[in-house]
Amino acid sequence: MTSTRSALVDRFGRRAVDLRVSLTDRCNLRCSYCMPPEGLPWLPNADVLTDDEVLRLVEIAVTRLGVTEVRFTGGEPLLRPGLVGIVAGAAALRPRPKLSVTTNAIGLHRLAAPLREAGLDRVNVSLDTLDPDRFATIAHRRRLDDVVAGLAAAAQAGLTPVKLNTVLLRGVNDDEAPALLRFALKHGYELRFIEQMPLDAQHGWSRTDMVTAEEILAALHAEFELSPDPAERAGAPAETWLVGGGPAKVGVIASVTRPFCGDCDRTRLTADGQVRNCLFARGETDLRGLLRGGAGDEEIAQRWREAMWGKLPGHGIDNPDFLQPTRPMSAIGG
Ligand code: SAM
Ligand code: SF4
Repeated sequence: MTSTRSALVDRFGRRAVDLRVSLTDRCNLRCSYCMPPEGLPWLPNADVLTDDEVLRLVEIAVTRLGVTEVRFTGGEPLLRPGLVGIVAGAAALRPRPKLSVTTNAIGLHRLAAPLREAGLDRVNVSLDTLDPDRFATIAHRRRLDDVVAGLAAAAQAGLTPVKLNTVLLRGVNDDEAPALLRFALKHGYELRFIEQMPLDAQHGWSRTDMVTAEEILAALHAEFELSPDPAERAGAPAETWLVGGGPAKVGVIASVTRPFCGDCDRTRLTADGQVRNCLFARGETDLRGLLRGGAGDEEIAQRWREAMWGKLPGHGIDNPDFLQPTRPMSAIGG
């Protein structure tokens, strides 16, 4: 076990054990709360870590820094050609980390089985609506069928529990919470609603427009019997409720109205090799330069520890001087 001295701790006593790795900033959807319809200027290929570089940093995190859980994300991680090999490499590490992918599920119908074979444990799939027209309005692409097929393939391959992430947007899909929960219950998926955060490249977020956890829970209560989940929340961002007495659950990630920064156990690595100690961090720490400059594992690990030590106590969305991070969500890794 990694000693507290060598772990990723910060000045407030939090310890990061959950690593989010962005494998690409590119995406085949254009969800309006994430990126503009025309896309974004993507990172140049030369800046993006190679598969070997990703795996070296993941190995340092797992073997020297006490990371126990690795989630691959993006952008859309299924667009990364080397994804299956990266998962296999991470699964070969000892101690073996828990491995998951956050994805829009386009292409998952083909990749679910190979990813499972490579050692992937679970997937989180983003699904905001069950209506094809609304899907096209939100994501600017007509791909709902691909997502539904990807979900089924994930369950079939044993990437379970399959979790669904939903962002509700006022006037677009904010009436769909009960229908999405019915769909999740029917298929055995675990649904979590995420409050919309100010992370879109277009800076279109507004506090007053955001659909709050309270509103989501009120809509669900109207149709379902929800009771607090007795399972311990630990560092998990979702507050969960048992549906109809359980075992089915539904979660709400109230990042804005009920921040959980005090329990945050995350560290993030961008596709171009920058450590971010928070989604909302204003600064980053470059590991790619060290890596490509021939630094040893311990030097890289130490730089990572220093990056985490400086983590702020909270994201400060409610502070009057809050500034949105310069990188959008798709380039940080959600
Ligand atoms: N493309 C993959 C996907 O959509 O699942 C992975 C990356 S995406 C940035 C990760 C998660 O962030 C998704 O569940 C998405 O819904 C969520 N997300 C993106 N922008 C968001 C925002 N502004 N507020 C809250 N969640 C957001
Ligand atoms: Fe792509 Fe995911 Fe952002 Fe949607 S939320 S545009 S699927 S990166």
